[in-house]
This record gives sequence, structure tokens and C-alpha cells, in this order.
Amino acid sequence: MSYELKTKNQKLKTQNCFPFPRFKGRILFDVPMKDYTSFRIGGPADVMVFPKGEDDLREILSFVQLKDFPVLFIGSGTNLLVRDGGIRGVVINLSDGFRDMQWKGEDEVTAGAGVKLSEIVNECRKRGLAGLEFAVQIPGTIGGAVVMNTGAYGKEIKDVVTGIDLMDMKGNKEFINKDGMRFLYRGCILPSNHIITSVHLKFKRDDTRDIERRIKEFKKKRGETQSVCYPSAGSIFKNPNHEGWNNGVSAGKLIDEAGLKGTRIGGAMVSDVHANYIVNLGSAKAADVITLLGIIRDKVLKEKGVMLEEEIKIVGED
Ligand SMILES: Cc1cc2nc3c(=O)[nH]c(=O)nc-3n(C[C@H](O)[C@H](O)[C@H](O)COP(=O)(O)OP(=O)(O)OC[C@H]3O[C@@H](n4cnc5c(N)ncnc54)[C@H](O)[C@@H]3O)c2cc1C
Repeated sequence: MSYELKTKNQKLKTQNCFPFPRFKGRILFDVPMKDYTSFRIGGPADVMVFPKGEDDLREILSFVQLKDFPVLFIGSGTNLLVRDGGIRGVVINLSDGFRDMQWKGEDEVTAGAGVKLSEIVNECRKRGLAGLEFAVQIPGTIGGAVVMNTGAYGKEIKDVVTGIDLMDMKGNKEFINKDGMRFLYRGCILPSNHIITSVHLKFKRDDTRDIERRIKEFKKKRGETQSVCYPSAGSIFKNPNHEGWNNGVSAGKLIDEAGLKGTRIGGAMVSDVHANYIVNLGSAKAADVITLLGIIRDKVLKEKGVMLEEEIKIVGED
């Protein structure tokens, strides 16, 4: 068995060091992250595990902690840019297990962290529950949505979250209710090295026709402003002055006014539909995107006097 790893540029050599007889999920090695991100960009992760349930997750977390391996939690990878050198250590992906939705009463659900936002939007529509219509067509999991405090059109996931279940690196479970959570604009502060295993949500009853109408309106708006057909990670930069972002100037407008739409580095381009999207034209490297991010930041600062801050999470090594 070899446990050698883990400093920068040292690959985790682990083919035979994940000996879990009771593990029910999948364990993959040397996994191209471009297959697990909406950007379709990213070098290989040494190891990716897909725990089937809490026992699997506990086992893997304790092992990773014991060996002091670096760890990264991912949902659907729709807010991630993985660098070209990939990820040293272990990526934990909850998208195979953690897919249950347990309804409580008429208007509350506990959703496994790997449940897709779109599944919850759809279920709410069928049950006549309002509150998540804004999330229609936002990709990703509910776990990722809480970490990002995903939002659109002035609404955020925090508006419907009542609490989360977490697991720490020793496999201990913890519940935090909404009052104990700190949501930010496109973020949420969690205790470090904890993974969200499920999310508690509460909605309001409403007429199904009204819910469907709002869903249709949000879809229409998205179609008008974000009809981007290339792979992307959604909005790249946060809107500045985000405390009052609804009235503030959007990052997209600033980038557009700086004349950057269509700017291209290698296979990465500032979308000519939505200036706050960088799209992968097919062969983009993370290095192309990172160069483009620098160009955008510099030009917007120079011409508009605004320092843009990234919304996407950049992970891995060059
Ligand atoms: C076309 C497109 C449109 C988009 N539109 C919007 C939009 O309108 N509004 C918006 O806010 N976002 C938008 N996004 C961004 C993205 O979809 C959301 O942020 C989404 O909620 C992220 O979920 P995910 O599962 O993909 O998270 P990931 O990208 O996998 O992860 C995001 C972060 O959460 C962490 N994480 C994920 N799961 C867990 C977990 N279970 N426990 C602990 N940490 C975890 C990861 O480590 C990472 O730091 C868009 C993206 C795309 C590609």
C-alpha cells in the first residue's frame, strides 16, 4: 500500500490504498475534472469518491482525515473552474447518493445535498409550493446552492432554507438552523472542513397557475439575457455594490461597457450574449480563462474604477 502524496505537484498514488470492504459507492482514479464541471475544463483529480450514503461518507472522511489527504467537496461543478494541473487529493461527490427528498407536512422538505435544484423546483410546482421559482434553469445541486447562496432576480436560496445537516471530518453529524447560518451575497460561511449532507427547506402554498406563470416569466427573462449555448460556469464576477445589487450596476454591464464582449484568449471567450459569462468554445484551458479574468478585471478597473470580484470558485493546481 502506498500513502505517499500530498504536497503540491505530488500525485496521490492510491489505486490500492482505498481498501474499504464495506464501501458501497464508487471510487475513481485519475478523473478528468472537465467531465465533472459545466465549464468542461480541468485537469485530473487524483481520486473521486461517490459515497452512497452516510456510512460511506463517514468512512471516507475519517480515512482522508487520518491520512491527512487534501479534500474537495463538489456538487454538479457548475460554479467551478478547475486548473489544468487538476486536483491533488480526494474529491467527494455527493451526486450518486444523497438524492432523497423527504417531505414533511405540506410545505417542508429535507433534500439530500446531491438533489438537483431543478428537481426541487419541479416538485414544488407540482405540489403548489412557492419560493423557488427563481431557480428554474439554474443548474447544480441544493448543497452547492447553499454554499453559494445561489440567487437570481432579487431572490436567494436563503429565503427558503430553514437549516442544514453537516458532517465533519471525523464523521460526526451536526444540524445548524437558519439562525445559526451566515449567508452572504453568493456565499455562506460554514464551519471549515464540513460537508453539507442535506438541506431543510420550507415553502409557501400558492396557486399552481401563479407558480407556473412565474416560472414561465423567469425562463423568458433567462432566455432573453443568458441564451448562451457554449459550456460556462454561469456568471463569472459578482455584481459590485451587491448589498443593494438590485439597484446597482451589474458586472455584466460594466464588462459590456468596457468593450470586452467577444474578447478571446485561446478557447475561452467573453460571451457576446451575456458579458458576465466566459464561454468555452471547445478547447479552452483553465489558463485561458484565468488570463481572460485578469484582462477583464484590469480593463474594468481602469475604465470604470470598479474592482470586480470573482463569483466562480477556482480550484486545483496549474
Ligand atoms: C448556465 C449557468 C447558469 C447559472 N445561473 C446562476 C444564477 O442565475 N444564479 C446563481 O447564483 N448561480 C448561477 N450559476 C452558478 C451555479 O449553478 C450555482 O452556484 C449552483 O448552485 C452551484 O451548485 P453546484 O452543485 O454545481 O456546486 P459546485 O459548483 O459543485 O460547488 C460550488 C461550491 O460549493 C462547494 N460545495 C458543493 N457541494 C457541497 C456540499 N455538499 N458541502 C460542502 N460544500 C459543497 C464546492 O466545494 C464549491 O466551493 C449558473 C451556472 C451555470 C453553468
